[in-house]
Amino acid sequence: MSQNSSSNTYATQKEICRCGDLAFIRILKTPQNPGREFYGCTKGNKEDGSCGYFRWVDDDTPFIGEEKFNLLHILHKAEESLREVRSLFLEAEASRDWFKDQMKEA
Ligand SMILES: [Zn+2]
Repeated sequence: MSQNSSSNTYATQKEICRCGDLAFIRILKTPQNPGREFYGCTKGNKEDGSCGYFRWVDDDTPFIGEEKFNLLHILHKAEESLREVRSLFLEAEASRDWFKDQMKEA
């Protein structure tokens, strides 16, 4: 009997591996854990650049991934920078308008 291993892999929307990508659910076929599902890196094997992410699907321990936390932190920082850029832009606009007025009066 031949089996297509790719049919045992499907994308998930809730788990993020250390690469920052969505993790895939894979089904284990070892004698110890036959048919048990786990989250794994999309890139598959270490040779393909995988981060080696691994977590059981049925392990319902509350989990806030360190990676997810880092991503939120980066997002927060990006929002801060965006605000800074916006205020710099408004300042630049204001001084441009001021300069225009000066030119009109000259
Ligand atoms: Zn990964």
